[in-house]
Amino acid sequence: MSFILSGVMGWPIAHSLSPRLHGFWLKKYGIEGAYLPLAVKPENLSAAISGLSALGFSGCNITVPHKEAVIPFVDELSARAKRIGAVNTLWFDAAGRLHGDCTDGEGFLADLSAVFPDWKEFKDSVVVIGAGGAARAVLVALHDVGCRNIIVLNRTRERAEVMCSDLGIEAHIAGLDWSGFSPRSLLINTTSLGMKGQPPLTLDLRALSADSLAYDLVYNPAETPFLAASRQQGLATGNGLGMLLHQAVPGFEHWFGVRPEVDDELRAYMKAALPC
Ligand code: NAP
Repeated sequence: MSFILSGVMGWPIAHSLSPRLHGFWLKKYGIEGAYLPLAVKPENLSAAISGLSALGFSGCNITVPHKEAVIPFVDELSARAKRIGAVNTLWFDAAGRLHGDCTDGEGFLADLSAVFPDWKEFKDSVVVIGAGGAARAVLVALHDVGCRNIIVLNRTRERAEVMCSDLGIEAHIAGLDWSGFSPRSLLINTTSLGMKGQPPLTLDLRALSADSLAYDLVYNPAETPFLAASRQQGLATGNGLGMLLHQAVPGFEHWFGVRPEVDDELRAYMKAALPC
């Protein structure tokens, strides 16, 4: 078998954990290949995408700031990527056509089910915080598995309104000062608040009972102030590291031909690269 190439294209890219993640799987499955960080400035995106095929890449991941800008270069866009308006995974088929998909929602649901096996009990009391790219993927995934009456909280209400209208999803929209939670709710932070170097997400959680759930897409730090406050109130909590691992599974399978496993060994290996 020939040497297989993939990578992650973004700007900046040095911080990305994806090379570590795919490197673990390449070693585990004994695959002759490499997954490289591809530092591509926005003005070079077109040339870089054309170069993928010329350089013999099987495809690559796409990250900030190219997730939307890459769409015009894709030959076959998946229905969910089209709906969300973003691509995070590219691969070439046997005929050389470039496919684009957004696997964030799939990764999110896979991890949510792993962390909270009974989360579907909360299908009618989900609160999504945020209205950016990650929120779109999360909202579509939740809606597609039957969640209804979703509440969306965002600093900029209009952005949440545009998001829900674009996605054709009815939701109750409010600002971050909203506190009318149903006692038993599933809260999902999709904003960058709480990330290392960012201000914390502070919500009034007093209405929530201790059997509520809190999930944060942020995984650096492992426990954000939002998760710490939720835990102090007795809620079960989960961070987005597992989502990062699960969203990578379909890409690895497309490029390297093996569906990789997300297991405790991988989680520990990835956790070791993050500050406590
Ligand atoms: P984005 O499109 O830039 O959206 C950012 C969101 O955060 C918006 O809702 C924005 O609100 C809100 N926000 C940012 N700064 C804020 C502030 N100071 N006060 C209040 N709200 C603020 O970003 P994204 O691509 O959706 O990513 C969001 C987060 O998800 C990032 O931390 C990213 O690392 C994480 N993520 C994790 C995974 C994973 O696999 N775990 C995958 C994707 C993303 P406004 O609309 O008001 O600006």
